Amino acid sequence: MCGIVGYVGNKQAAPVLMGGLRKLEYRGYDSAGVCIQNGRLTTVRSEGKIAALDLKLAKHHLQGTSGIAHTRWATHGVPEERNAHPHRDCSGSVAVVHNGIIENFLELREELTGKGHIFHSDTDSEVLAHLIEHEMEAGLPALQAIRASLACVRGTYGLVVIFKDLPQTLFTARMGSPLVIGIGDGEHYIASDPSAIIEHTRDVMFLDDGEIACVSSEGITLCALDREDVPHRIQHLDWEVETASRGEHAHFMLKEIMEQPQVIENSIRGRVDLIGGRAVLGGLDDVRDRLKEIDRIVIVGCGSAYYAGLVGEYLIEELAGISVEVELASEFRYRKPIITERTAVLAVSQSGETADTLEAIVEAKRKRALTLGLVNTVGSSIARATDAGVYNHAGPEIGVASTKAFVSQMTVLSLIAVYLGQLRGFLPESKAREVLAGLHEMPELVEKVLANRGQVTRVAEKYRGMENCLFLGRKYQAPIAYEGALKLKEVSYIHAEGYSSGEMKHGPIALIDKSFPSIVLCPQDSVYEKTCSNISELRARKGPIIAVTTCGSMSHVQADDVIIVPHTMEALQPILTVIPLQLIAYEAAVARGLDPDKPRNLAKSVTVE
Ligand code: GLU
Repeated sequence: MCGIVGYVGNKQAAPVLMGGLRKLEYRGYDSAGVCIQNGRLTTVRSEGKIAALDLKLAKHHLQGTSGIAHTRWATHGVPEERNAHPHRDCSGSVAVVHNGIIENFLELREELTGKGHIFHSDTDSEVLAHLIEHEMEAGLPALQAIRASLACVRGTYGLVVIFKDLPQTLFTARMGSPLVIGIGDGEHYIASDPSAIIEHTRDVMFLDDGEIACVSSEGITLCALDREDVPHRIQHLDWEVETASRGEHAHFMLKEIMEQPQVIENSIRGRVDLIGGRAVLGGLDDVRDRLKEIDRIVIVGCGSAYYAGLVGEYLIEELAGISVEVELASEFRYRKPIITERTAVLAVSQSGETADTLEAIVEAKRKRALTLGLVNTVGSSIARATDAGVYNHAGPEIGVASTKAFVSQMTVLSLIAVYLGQLRGFLPESKAREVLAGLHEMPELVEKVLANRGQVTRVAEKYRGMENCLFLGRKYQAPIAYEGALKLKEVSYIHAEGYSSGEMKHGPIALIDKSFPSIVLCPQDSVYEKTCSNISELRARKGPIIAVTTCGSMSHVQADDVIIVPHTMEALQPILTVIPLQLIAYEAAVARGLDPDKPRNLAKSVTVE
C-alpha cells in the first residue's frame, strides 16, 4: 500500500525515484507522482500505473539531483491525477508526499481556506503542504514550520517535504506510517520500505514515531516533535537483494504457491531439533521467564494473518495448554480488552507494518502485556515494537493475496506451540517429537500436493462459471475454510463464504441449491465423520460438492469432485489442505481472464487503518 521514495545526492533523482517506486509497485496503488527540485519544484503525476507516469516523464526530461515520489492508494478522494501526490501549496514553494490519514483535515482545510488558501485536490494530504506554507509565511524556518504544522494534525503520517528554496534538502517525519533513511556516500535515500532502496545501500536508519529528520547530501539531523537532539541509530540490513522475478511462472501468486516447500524449509531451518526433540526459537529465549508466567495469549492480525492466528489458537491450546484468543487487530484497540502483565499479545503480520496490528501492539504495551511478533519483514515496525518474536523467513511476498506467508505463519505457529508446551512442561516428549517430525517432512508432502496440480485445474475449469461458493471445515479446518473463501474473493471476485461446518445448519444451508457449490475440507481427522455428515446434508439439498480430503474415495458421501492431499497429523493438516484452495483461487482468476497479481481495490500491506 502507498509508497514513498526520496533522494538527495549527486545522481539524477528522477531515475532513482522511479526505480524505487517500481520496487514498491507490488503493494498496490492507483496513481503515482514525482517532484524534482531544480530551482523550482516540478511535479509530474499520473492516474494508473507507473508505466503511465513513465510515459509522461519522458516528455518532461526532469533534471535535478533531489526529489520525492509516491504511489498512492486512495483513502480520501478518487484515484485521479489531481489527487495523486506530490501535493503543493499555493505558491509552489513546498511539495509533500504523505502516507497515512490526516483525520482532522476537514477542519484544518476549512480554516486554511478561510485564510485564503486554495486547494486543488480532495485529499487529506494536501492540507500538510498548506499548513507548512502558512507557518513559513508567519516567519518560521522550514523545520520549525513542519513541526508546528504536525502539532496541529491528528492521524497518521509518513511524510517527506521538499522546498523550492532549499536545494539538496529533504525533511521527513513519521507518526504511525513507516519510513527509513538510507545512507550512501554523499547521498541519502528515504523510503517507506527498505526494499525500495536496498539496491543502493544497506546502511539505514528507521525513524520512530514523533521523529523528524532533515536529510541533505551531507548528512542527517534528527529531532522529535517535542525535543531536539535525537541520537542516530544506524543499522546494517543483511538482506538479500532479491530481484523479485516471476521466473517461469505466469504470475507471482503462482510462483509463491509453487515455492511453498522451500518456504516451509526456510521457516523451520535450525528450529526443528529432531535429536533433542525440541523447538528452537532463539527469538523467544530472551523472554523465557515471562513466557513461563503468562496465563493467556491474545493473537492479533488482519486478513489471512488473522486466520493463521485461528489455527495458532488451536495449536497453542492443544500443545501448550495456554488459553488463547484471536482478535481482529482492527477491533482490538477500540474495545476495552482485558490485558494484564500476564497476557502475551502476539502480532501476526507478513509486512510487519499493518497499521491496525501495530496499533494493537502499542495498546498492549500500554497495558504492560508481553508483546511478541510473528512477521516476515526483518526490521519492520512490528518487529521493532515488540519485546520478542520470530521471523517467518519466507522471503518477500509480492502477490497481493497472501499464500506462502500464510503457510509459513501456520508452520511457525506450530513451532511456537511446541516451544511453549515444552517451556511450561505441558507437552509430552512423544507428542513434541511427533509434531517436529511432521514439520520436518512437510516440505516433501507439500511437493506432493503441488505435483497434483492437475486435479485442481480440472476442478477450477469445471466450476469457472460459478457465481457463489461456500467453504466449510471443522476444528483445525475451519480457519482454512475462511482463508479459502477469502482467497477466492480476493483474486477471482467470486462471492464466497467460509464457515465452520457446524455452523452450516444455522444459516448458510439456506443458500444451497444445484447452482451453489461447496468446497468441503474433510481430511481423515478426529471430526471426519461429522464433516461427512455435513456433506450428506448439502447433497440432500442438491448442492454440488468438492471434497478436499486425505481419503482415497469419497463415494460414500457422493462428492462430485475430490481433491486428495497427503495425510499428516491433525494439527499440521491445515498446511496441506490450504494449498489446493490457493490453487483453485488462482486458476479461477486466470480462467475468468483476471490478473491475480493485481486484484482490484486491494493493497499489499495495509498501512492505514
Ligand atoms: N490519505 C492519503 C490520500 O488519500 C494518502 C494515501 C496513501 O497512504 O497512499 O491521498
